[in-house]
Amino acid sequence: MLEQLYSDVSPHVARILDRALSGQELDRSDAEQLLRCQGADFHALCRAADVARKQDVGDDVSFVVNRNINFTNVCYVGCTFCGFSRHADDPDAYDRSMDEILDKARDAVARGATEVCIQGGIDPKKDHHHYREILRALKGEFPDLHIHAYSPEEVDFMQRKSGMELPELFAWLREAGLGTIPGTAAEILSDDIRQVVAGRKLMTDRWVEIVTAAHEAGLRSSSTIMYGHIETPEHVAAHMDRVRELQKRTGGFTEFVPLGFIYEKNHLGHSLEAPGPSAQDDLRLIAVARLFLRPWITNVQMSWVKMGPKLSQQALLCGANDFGGTLMEESISRESGSDFGENLPPEEIRRLIRAVGRTPVERNTTYGILRRFDDPEKDPPSLEPEQRAERAGPRRFRDKELLLVDGRAQ
Ligand code: SF4
Repeated sequence: MLEQLYSDVSPHVARILDRALSGQELDRSDAEQLLRCQGADFHALCRAADVARKQDVGDDVSFVVNRNINFTNVCYVGCTFCGFSRHADDPDAYDRSMDEILDKARDAVARGATEVCIQGGIDPKKDHHHYREILRALKGEFPDLHIHAYSPEEVDFMQRKSGMELPELFAWLREAGLGTIPGTAAEILSDDIRQVVAGRKLMTDRWVEIVTAAHEAGLRSSSTIMYGHIETPEHVAAHMDRVRELQKRTGGFTEFVPLGFIYEKNHLGHSLEAPGPSAQDDLRLIAVARLFLRPWITNVQMSWVKMGPKLSQQALLCGANDFGGTLMEESISRESGSDFGENLPPEEIRRLIRAVGRTPVERNTTYGILRRFDDPEKDPPSLEPEQRAERAGPRRFRDKELLLVDGRAQ
């Protein structure tokens, strides 16, 4: 009877899945075919990715307690998919002072953060010294806090401002406290797509050059893709192939993070007929990433801020093994139209993970396990301000009741 479940799967898809599960490396043509899977082929793809995930990393689902800090939204690069950037004289433009940045880091540490992720717009009035000062200020007060900062676009900007060679620049930033870099600004690593969605951003070879130099300087990074706009399966397959080839050379990527395009509040979204990726597009890309990147990259992260908590749970059944971070503050997706919130507290992430039968584990930025949460009864109390207030509320109420009951109120 069970065989009936897979009897509708296309023979060519079945052969690709079989090869992936037996440990063979898939090629770009395989990925392109999987990225077109529908119906029974799609279900088989997701199931195969789930089996591969279990083989690669087991049943743990990791997450990191972190905070995003965007230090400025002033940017003149003009990417068509971006709803975050402002010009300096826009009424809602901001440029955070060092005190504001430190305040946000203090709040993050008080809420259990082990990482801050620092990125901003490209403001031509700033230079490389400003980026370094942020690192020095944070490390001065929080020597143990991991700083995950500065996209390849920001590194490109710093290099042009400073005139330093990349190894020298990375050494200079590391000395000031840089721990890892986000592999953002990748969008789609094909110049024909980049010309349309980010024509004034760094191009593909430059992104690869900067990330390679970061890895060679001892800085690990994430890897990302932004999909669901004008790209085709061929572009996505080429992108993942470029990432995999780079990983074979350096081993510096910690994870792969598919980021679905948010279309509501930006020029690119308004010009498209299709409103961003469907749920099926989201799950299919995660599943293909799992099968295509193994064994070179074994951590596949979903983005709850783009997909929402329920689809993120589904992604855990289609090849993903990392829930990402708590974020605490998120404006890049929100200002493009995402409405899934800015903060997902650790206890909520644990609840979502457990609800699909998996075990939550808190990790650091480079996927070292900090603690396991095998038993919900032994979970630590929340460090979130709202939950603290909620807990304080009923206690005050009970105290008052007791005072009234024993007649000694007032
Ligand atoms: S995506 Fe980044 S570089 Fe592009 S416009 Fe927005 S803030 Fe600027």
